[in-house]
Amino acid sequence: MPGQIRGVVFDMDDTLYLERDYVRSGFHAVSEQLPDSGRAFSRLWEWFETGVRGDTFDRLLKAEPQWATRVTTAALVDVYRSHRPQIELLSPAAKLLAELQAVGISTGVLTDGPERAQRAKVDALGLKHHVDMVLMTDTLGREHWKPSEAGFIWMEEQLGLSAQQLVYIGDNPVKDFIAPKRRGWATVRLRLRGQLRFNLESTTVGSAAEHEVLSWEELSTWVWRWLRCETN
Ligand SMILES: [Mg+2]
Repeated sequence: MPGQIRGVVFDMDDTLYLERDYVRSGFHAVSEQLPDSGRAFSRLWEWFETGVRGDTFDRLLKAEPQWATRVTTAALVDVYRSHRPQIELLSPAAKLLAELQAVGISTGVLTDGPERAQRAKVDALGLKHHVDMVLMTDTLGREHWKPSEAGFIWMEEQLGLSAQQLVYIGDNPVKDFIAPKRRGWATVRLRLRGQLRFNLESTTVGSAAEHEVLSWEELSTWVWRWLRCETN
């Protein structure tokens, strides 16, 4: 497989930036809607740090029932998903993307998640300036989120490359690598401290990435080794 790579496609959340920064940014936006934003943010962040996921805004309105008379959970979710996130590309990510573009290697981003929230992140990160193709799988339909192959097929067609010429780099060992592996892409898990799923292990051979790297430096080494093989 190494030696043929012509395109590098990345997951977005917790791969190109740290998702906890998005969560923090969203909690700030939500807290600003509430009477005591300092207290609201402290509670939300404390729960996040102790692993609470999914029902955080419900918990908040239960813990502060007087606020529930002014705002609903649905409204807070709406603020969270539509807020303008304060997030940035990890600097080694921006560097590698620029280097790949400079030598004519195709680049892409393939991301799951509600379209509105993902679009806000894509815009905040300025991804259109950093990669050739961005696909939010939600635009194909909820049923085409990973591990559907549809987004990967779309990316092959848009970049004009075969599965064997592509590598997918992501962080989630449960869903990121199933479809690209099935199609014959190379796969790399980028495992960084601070990621939400840092401690999560893949449970099946089919879901495990072929390679795992523990830093952007290591990832760059892999990518360039493959690309050099290609030019030799
Ligand atoms: Mg991710």
